[in-house]
Amino acid sequence: MIARLRLQPADVGMGLTGQRVRDRLIDDLRKGGITDERVLNAIRTVPRHQFVDEALASRAYENNALPIGHGQTISQPYVVAKMTEALLAASPKKVLEVGTGSGYQAAVLAALGLEVFTVERIGDLLRTARKRFRSLGLHVRSKHDDGRIGWPEEAPFDAIIVTAAGSALVDALVAQLAPGGVLVAPVGAAGGQSLLCLRKDADGGVAQEDLGAVVFVPLLSGLTDR
Ligand code: SAH
Repeated sequence: MIARLRLQPADVGMGLTGQRVRDRLIDDLRKGGITDERVLNAIRTVPRHQFVDEALASRAYENNALPIGHGQTISQPYVVAKMTEALLAASPKKVLEVGTGSGYQAAVLAALGLEVFTVERIGDLLRTARKRFRSLGLHVRSKHDDGRIGWPEEAPFDAIIVTAAGSALVDALVAQLAPGGVLVAPVGAAGGQSLLCLRKDADGGVAQEDLGAVVFVPLLSGLTDR
């Protein structure tokens, strides 16, 4: 599955972007309770330092969110791992992400062999993310849109991941979830967000679980180029 990545020497990294610091991050994730080896392997392999500004590359394998410009952030590796683990529980093939940002979460999902669709409202961020997908040889479908409408033409999805916090789960996204599917999304206002995991059963009934407190940038409406 990881074989889908085309890694150049700069992606493999060295020193503060190399194997040892990545292994330390993986140890940290394990201590935090992440057990899925597929997820740990994807996070070890996807070059997170290529998803942030060069000036921040040396901090890319710390277990922290980092700024990516436009007031947005690349999520903390632990949160990426946690959300990815929750999604894999549905054994998904086709996944929708709302909030491409740096493209890192989408790259982790694509490295796991999933068919990934991702939507971003800030044109600038999406253009940069697309360059990263291309250079890593990752096939990710993306569009510049308000992700709260989902991607109706491509629905249903086996899993949906929202990486910005809304005030409630978005009905249109729940509707685009296939039976048996899982939606993971942070919900709540700044300072009081929870990571919710919603499962749709075969009859279309839904059950919800709270995976704990998180901190995400807000889910906003409308589009912007920059
Ligand atoms: N998954 C990203 C996290 C980026 S932060 C990563 O791995 O880097 C959240 C992103 O969601 C921001 O880029 C923000 O612009 C975007 N966003 C916020 N509201 C959105 C909306 N309604 N539709 C699409 N993207 C949205």
